[in-house]
Amino acid sequence: MNTRRNFLTKIVASACIPALALQRASAQAPPAVKLEESDPIATALGYKEITTKVDAAKYPLHKPEQVCSGCALYQSKPGDASGPCSAFGGKLVTAGGWCSVFAKKPDPVKP
Ligand code: SF4
Repeated sequence: MNTRRNFLTKIVASACIPALALQRASAQAPPAVKLEESDPIATALGYKEITTKVDAAKYPLHKPEQVCSGCALYQSKPGDASGPCSAFGGKLVTAGGWCSVFAKKPDPVKP
């Protein structure tokens, strides 16, 4: 009986240790980094922190009402000044920014 209890204790302990290590690692995740316009990938994709600063000649399909906060790749709450963008590996982009990867968020489904 004692052997069985010891065995089960070891199984539970071995299952919990990796979970605790993972939890600790995620708690120490580095803070998000701001995407700079000078970043080579940002430059290649025409990223601007302010959508009205986009080069209209280079990006004729750009519209001033297109902003990061209205993009499907923007991962933040409404009203936040900036948020992570999945197109740039989670770096922070401004809510009023834009790049050529812009993809309009789908309209909410109406009941
Ligand atoms: S992919 Fe969307 S959220 Fe990301 S920088 Fe471009 S427009 Fe902004």
